[in-house]
Amino acid sequence: MNPLEIIAAKRDGMELSSRQITALIEQVTAGNVPDYQTAAWLMAVYLRGMTLQETTALTLAMRDSGSVVQAAGLPNGPLLDKHSTGGVGDKTSLALVPMLAACGAPLLKMSGRGLGITGGTIDKLESIPGFRAGLALHEAVEQVRTVGAAMVAQSKELAPADGILYALRDVTGTVASMPLIAASIMSKKLASGADCIVLDVKAGSGAFMRTRTEARALARLMMQLGREAGTSVHALITDMNQPLGRTVGNALELEEALDVLENKPGLDARFRRLCIQLAGYALAVSNRAKTWRHGRELAENALASGAAAEKCAAIISAQGGPHSLAQVRATLPRAHVQKTAAARRSGYLTGMDAAEIGKIALELGAGRTRKNEPLNHAAGIKFWVGLGDYVQKGAALASVYGSSNEMEPQIERLADACTIEPHPQQPDFALLEVVRLKR
Ligand code: URA
Repeated sequence: MNPLEIIAAKRDGMELSSRQITALIEQVTAGNVPDYQTAAWLMAVYLRGMTLQETTALTLAMRDSGSVVQAAGLPNGPLLDKHSTGGVGDKTSLALVPMLAACGAPLLKMSGRGLGITGGTIDKLESIPGFRAGLALHEAVEQVRTVGAAMVAQSKELAPADGILYALRDVTGTVASMPLIAASIMSKKLASGADCIVLDVKAGSGAFMRTRTEARALARLMMQLGREAGTSVHALITDMNQPLGRTVGNALELEEALDVLENKPGLDARFRRLCIQLAGYALAVSNRAKTWRHGRELAENALASGAAAEKCAAIISAQGGPHSLAQVRATLPRAHVQKTAAARRSGYLTGMDAAEIGKIALELGAGRTRKNEPLNHAAGIKFWVGLGDYVQKGAALASVYGSSNEMEPQIERLADACTIEPHPQQPDFALLEVVRLKR
């Protein structure tokens, strides 16, 4: 295998054979291809694209670059997985994994850390003192067997080629490529052994895919990759033009997910409803509910009975955190500085700029611009009003949490990021569509 030939062929717009792609990924994983050649190939793919056949070969080669979990034999199988393409305030996995496990669906949830404005489930979980996200694969599988679910960081054991490629994409302007994103996500999902995968593909200013059309194309591509690999993949498109729920920031989002699991009153209705819809859909497509509606009922019951909250406590405690959700709440970090962003005018909140709000949270310390940058888990934003609510000029729109007294520019921008209009507008549902794949 000569990497130069493969780079040149892709640069000239030729279709690579499965054999060429497999050989390249094997050599990249073995450390035999210098970064400059891998980066040049990634740029050629970014500019020229890939056919479905090429993307399938890439996905399978990345999947096979490490261990592939053998889920057969787990109680209550098949193994379910749920993946969100990421967005601002997206804490759905934190609520969904315990809800689904409480409904009898085992989950081995491999999650990532946040990068840029999109937060990461693992960073949110690591707000909990003592929480161990870095379980070895065999420990995670054992926890699924005993507790019903595990939420763990992407390990080097699974799809290590993705770790190498992603790190290079991140610094060479090649992240936003549809085949590279689809292969990156699907190689990890397929390696984690799930029999049924539900994808929550975000569309909007706070997501990788800005429009619904782009999100649909990415969703269909990932469904096709699942089909080629013989795994059942389902996808929903959900809105990311506004942050999801009332919080943005790691510990704040974790608390909001716990509020859903503990069925607290007065929650952000749009976020809670999305959790129920996603859970119901996942239960239906994995044959644990007769219909989507039945799935939603099962999810509601798991919240009302306390089973979902209990399952969450069991998962956290098995991974080194406190034994009860009350103790989890009591040990979460609190910000040193808290300030208020006030409404610029009286009226109804009709829009919240997700991208800008994500950037503000990142500047407060909730996110990172480089891999491995330390986070302030307590930093972020908590909104006191939701879409469609009336607010008086000067009243609190949000609390802003950080570690410095110099947060005025962020507070001003936060107020500007919220659109307040004289007339109410019914907020859209967060769930936009179910994606279908032609047979
Ligand atoms: N999430 C991933 O895992 N990979 C990408 O390329 C983009 C989002």
